[in-house]
Amino acid sequence: FPVDRIRNFCIIAHIDHGKSTLADRLLEMTGAIAKTDKNKQVLDKLQVERERGITVKAQTASLFYTHHGQQHLLNLIDTPGHVDFSYEVSRSISACQGVLLLVDANQGIQAQTVANFYLAFEAQLTIIPVINKIDLKNADPERVESQIENVFDIPREDCIRISAKLGTNVENVLQAVVERIPPPTAIVHDPFKALVFDSNFDHYRGIVANIAVFAGHVKKGDKIVSAHLGKAYEVNELGLLCPQEHPTQKLFAGQVGYLIAGMKEVKEAQIGDTLYHQDQPVEALPGFKPAKAMVFAGMYPVDQSEYPGLRSAIERLTLNDSSVTVQRDSSLALGAGWRLGFLGLLHMEVFNQRLEQEYNASVIITAPTVPYKAVLSSAKLIKNRRGIQNNMMYVDDHRVMMKYLFPLNEIVMDFYDLLKSLSSGYASFDYENAGYQAADLIKMDILLNGRPVEELTTIVHRARAYSTGKAICERLKDSIPRQMFEIAVQASIGSKIIARETIKAYRKNVLAKCYGGDITRKMKLLKKQAEGKKKMRRIGNVEVPKDVFINVLKRK
Ligand code: GDP
Ligand code: MG
Repeated sequence: FPVDRIRNFCIIAHIDHGKSTLADRLLEMTGAIAKTDKNKQVLDKLQVERERGITVKAQTASLFYTHHGQQHLLNLIDTPGHVDFSYEVSRSISACQGVLLLVDANQGIQAQTVANFYLAFEAQLTIIPVINKIDLKNADPERVESQIENVFDIPREDCIRISAKLGTNVENVLQAVVERIPPPTAIVHDPFKALVFDSNFDHYRGIVANIAVFAGHVKKGDKIVSAHLGKAYEVNELGLLCPQEHPTQKLFAGQVGYLIAGMKEVKEAQIGDTLYHQDQPVEALPGFKPAKAMVFAGMYPVDQSEYPGLRSAIERLTLNDSSVTVQRDSSLALGAGWRLGFLGLLHMEVFNQRLEQEYNASVIITAPTVPYKAVLSSAKLIKNRRGIQNNMMYVDDHRVMMKYLFPLNEIVMDFYDLLKSLSSGYASFDYENAGYQAADLIKMDILLNGRPVEELTTIVHRARAYSTGKAICERLKDSIPRQMFEIAVQASIGSKIIARETIKAYRKNVLAKCYGGDITRKMKLLKKQAEGKKKMRRIGNVEVPKDVFINVLKRK
């Protein structure tokens, strides 16, 4: 396929502005999927994405589109919108020459619109502004065009007004992709060189790598080498993603597709790696800046016998989500496990859900913490969260963009939810790392019957130790079921107890009801009780439900 008729682009936007819906329309109009009412977020393939209605993983689709009588190959990459997944966005951008910057005609520019714009701008991509949802009663495309001019310095005439839902003007978007975005500068005659920009573990076929071919071509049977490990492989299968896998004989410079080459282990197909022909070595591509974990949590098998299975599940899932960092760890109460680093709380929840749904693994996650550097010696909402205002800019008459410096631990858990509810959903939020700052912090322990629960130890600001300690004790009291003995729940700083709650004793005998009953019924009930216990964790003599660790630190 001639390189000058290839376009690689992705859609970037704030969450819910309609990326996945636009992707559906583009797939329909180019015949990649049939036109029916059933096409809803076709590229959101993961169960977790369908259940939460959000995109977590970037997905690729190759489309064929005829413009002025010439067939073009358009490679579309759908990207996630939430801050926690901006790592996926920057990876997608590295395989593209242009982006569709999608903005909701009613909501206008939001936090992730700005963050994603800068990712594309810094990568020097062509930016096509698209204003979506013009069918809405309150749509105000004029105002959004002024915002785009003000904030991004893009002329309003460049904007395309569409309704992704109804398909209005979506044809103009396809035309703009062909006319405004340059083809990749790939050289077909040079030696083969490809970037691995994503990879997946398939239970039957091993590792499936998504590649962008930067130079030359690759075909079935070729001997290729991955630059990172220097190991050689034979290509078994390759093809386009349309969006389902569509095997082809060759992949050429400028094309994006998938490749299977007998790679079995996670480290063999690292995202950011370079592939080349065995007899024609090339200089490796720069790869990706490693993601910087913001939130850390311990992860443990519910039962230690599940450790090996959980280890391979975590390895395989981190292949698909390379922004998670993994370190081995162990805890007195929970046994051998790992300490995982995530980009945010939603990222952590999604990872956990994917482990359960895609790998059938059941885990205990401890309360997340943020990194601190310790020195040994011993307006609303914003003021409460120790924020310092930095900078402010008017987007238009109604909307202002404010920048604050915040301690990270004040924002990771629930700041976003609170901000949304205080502003009735109007405010949006994004963050980046501003480095470490000095603060008056102390360590607070939580004790169950006098025994410290290390997973619940937190670092708090001195001024808020009492109220936080009291709130955690109250929540623990509500979430730990009564047991056969009384349980004291305490918060302490050093040896000083600062809060206490008591869980009263209660006796539960599952066999009481079937005294003298038949034995199979007894066995059934005992088995049921044992299954219930699997969801519990024993700390000292206290049984704690496994989700307590994370729920207890969320503020109400
Ligand atoms: P994403 O988070 O950017 O992928 O957004 P989605 O494509 O999931 O869309 C978010 C919501 O907006 C869904 O309920 C869509 O049905 C709706 N939506 C998307 N495009 C339009 C549009 O053009 N008009 C209207 N009225 N709703 C739309
Ligand atoms: Mg989406």
